[in-house]
Formats: sequence, structure tokens, C-alpha cells
Amino acid sequence: MENLNVIGLKKRIALVAHDNKKRDLLEWAKFNRETLSHHHLFGTGTTGSMLENELGLPITHFKSGPIGGDQQIGAKIAEGKIDFLIFFWDPLEQQPHDPDIKALLRLAVLYNIPTASNRATADFIISSDLMNVEYENKTPDLDHYLAIRKIPKYEIEEIS
Ligand code: PGA
Repeated sequence: MENLNVIGLKKRIALVAHDNKKRDLLEWAKFNRETLSHHHLFGTGTTGSMLENELGLPITHFKSGPIGGDQQIGAKIAEGKIDFLIFFWDPLEQQPHDPDIKALLRLAVLYNIPTASNRATADFIISSDLMNVEYENKTPDLDHYLAIRKIPKYEIEEIS
């Protein structure tokens, strides 16, 4: 069983880039400024400020990635409040918040969020005809997962 989550005409798009990828994201966002202006934009602290200043578009800011911004975006995905993730992460440099990055990418997969980790994927996503229509996003039935999940009995007995 799956759940349906309708992604409306105005998509809620989260934009994140690691430091070595910020220029890439900025170029991409400038090229696609007109399209992006029709949607709700979100970003981690530094990425969000950079894009807001350079594009002149309103962007809802979260904290900077290394101090919790990635987790905040992950939470919004879990709440069904973000539809897209454009996250240019750096495959060549270790990040202090690596667990947060993994957590964000995991939730994006879990909730069936269209995700671009590089420019080519972002190009294909933003030029898709599906960007201009409502889309029925089939998400997994997590209530069913919780209902059938087996919690080992000994854990419960140890607590009581
Ligand atoms: P930043 O965070 O936009 O604040 O630089 C990005 C990240 O590292 O997740």
C-alpha cells in the first residue's frame, strides 16, 4: 500500500550546496531564475543567503548546514512540507556534519522526494514537464510499516 501526497503547481524546493559546490549551484540557479521564481524556495543558512542576494528572490532560511540546517530540511521533508531537494554535496571533501547529510539524503529517499545531487540531474528535473503540473507523489505506507514493526519483547520488559 502507498500513500498519495500531491505536489502542487508551486513546488517547495530546498536548495543546499557545500562550499566547493556553491558556485555551481549559483550558476545553475541564475540560469533557472525565472523558473525558480514561480516556486517556494528554501535553503540552508549560507546557501540561502547567497542565493537570495544574487537572485533577488525570497528564500526561507534554515540554520547553516553544519549547525543543524540539513536536519531542519530533513524534518520538513518528514512533515511533508518540502517537495524537492537540490543538494550539491561535495564528493571530494570530508564534511563535519556527514551524519546529518546522510540523514537528509535518507529521508529524501524514504519520502520519495525528487533529489538532484549534481547539475545534470538538476537540469533534467527543472526542465521536466512535470514541473508545470500537479503531481501525485506515491509515498510508502509508513503507518503500515509501524503497525507490522516488531519490537523485541525484552526491550519492553527491561523498561517496566
Ligand atoms: P550552508 O550549509 O548553506 O550553511 O553552507 C550547507 C551544508 O553544508 O549543508
